[in-house]
Amino acid sequence: MTDSPLPQTAWRETPFDDDKLKEECGIFGVNGVSTAANFVALGLHALQHRGQEAGGIVVHDPEHGFNSARRFGYVRDNFTSQAVMDTLPGPIAIGHVRYSTAGSKGATAIRDVQPFFGEFAMGGAAIAHNGNITNAEELRRELIERGSIFQSSSDSECIIHLMARSLQKNIPERMKDALRRVEGAFSVVAMTRTKLIGVRDALGVRPLVLGRIGDGYALASETCALDIIGAEFVREIEPGEMVVISSTGEVTSHRPFEQKPSRFCVFEHVYFSRPDSILGGRSVYETRENIGRELAKEAPVEADLVCPVPDSGTPAAIGFSLQSGIPYAMGIIRNQYMGRTFIEPSEQVRNLGVRLKLNVNRALIRGKRVILVDDSVVRGTTSRKIKEMILDAGAAEVHFRIASPPTAWPCFYGVDTPQREKLLAATMSEEEMRTHLGVDSLKFISLDGLYRAVGEANGRDAKAPQYCDACFSGEYPVAPRDKLAKGFQLKTAAE
Ligand code: SF4
Repeated sequence: MTDSPLPQTAWRETPFDDDKLKEECGIFGVNGVSTAANFVALGLHALQHRGQEAGGIVVHDPEHGFNSARRFGYVRDNFTSQAVMDTLPGPIAIGHVRYSTAGSKGATAIRDVQPFFGEFAMGGAAIAHNGNITNAEELRRELIERGSIFQSSSDSECIIHLMARSLQKNIPERMKDALRRVEGAFSVVAMTRTKLIGVRDALGVRPLVLGRIGDGYALASETCALDIIGAEFVREIEPGEMVVISSTGEVTSHRPFEQKPSRFCVFEHVYFSRPDSILGGRSVYETRENIGRELAKEAPVEADLVCPVPDSGTPAAIGFSLQSGIPYAMGIIRNQYMGRTFIEPSEQVRNLGVRLKLNVNRALIRGKRVILVDDSVVRGTTSRKIKEMILDAGAAEVHFRIASPPTAWPCFYGVDTPQREKLLAATMSEEEMRTHLGVDSLKFISLDGLYRAVGEANGRDAKAPQYCDACFSGEYPVAPRDKLAKGFQLKTAAE
């Protein structure tokens, strides 16, 4: 396979986004269209919120074989030029946008940028995944001892090496063999010369949907990526399902894993997914508005204005306002062009921190009792700065309402979270957090309230939770085996 040799875009994460859980990765694949790479580039562009560090596309064309381009930076900066796209011909392609949750941190190693490629006796295969393999380190050790030579530090390469060791006669069967050895929470897109493959882990923690475009099919992390290419949403890939899509449009369904009840990531509803996506048949926007309504019922407070912390707090703030009758207002304005354009921020610029991205609408805030609605509190550093900005602007009172329960546990399923001791809710009670943030009141939605907002009328089933909510509850549906081996302590009966 040849990797397109054009230059890389310099990229560096700004220091202003470090107080959010980072979306994992986005994956996209298409088969049975002309110039598949163009569709993949558009799909990845729609999924850019799931990873901004790097992106890659692999294609296959009968005349030119497999080709790929992997780059640091935004899709729009790397996969829009004719020169690059001309190197990616063919009717089948997969792609990936990455925020590093495993493998190298920061933009240091192009070898960790997916998709990965392996050459087998029966032909090549490329693979990209979103999520985390929780026994990757154990598998890697075992594979290296048995002679595998790893090219990257990424989890997904384990799948390629496990496929290489399988004795099955075709790539989909080899993939099934490999997947039976991996544990964790992941969605996969893969391709052979003619087949597009999509897989969700046994619990379906991470999303993956199927769409139809002309005579071809597409797989995507979210429905918003189907919309951008004009594909029609067909269905979600089911938890534990593997679909194989041929070049002639035949879709077959396989079950490599033991059937288990779904434990989809509840945080996708709160924050990770785009509000214009559909998850589990529900509009993400409407779910977030419902969360705001639940929050207003659970934690009412007298105030003059409800303001979102933009952009992710906006639908919940609208819901809070509708439920409480307190007027909604844009009290904080986000600089839409901030992005990650400060490639090398100086110390002076760095100290401006959140002010570079958010600014208070002073005329609106002065003298008002303000309810600020945000999606989550992670370290609390941004929340403190926003509170200071609101008070500087002359607010009479500041009340925080948070559209998720306290984030007290790290995610080991493909979401970048700080170590447990860095999570504010891991070390402080709600009242201690309120004092620490210096606000007049602070309330989080309850787990039951969140479950009601996502459509579970009776709230969370404590005996068999309907979603993964480990970062709130500390109850991990898949044992984080590599982390436990390194000393991570699960929740005790007393906690
Ligand atoms: S731990 Fe939290 S962020 Fe991670 S998959 Fe579970 S609900 Fe989602």
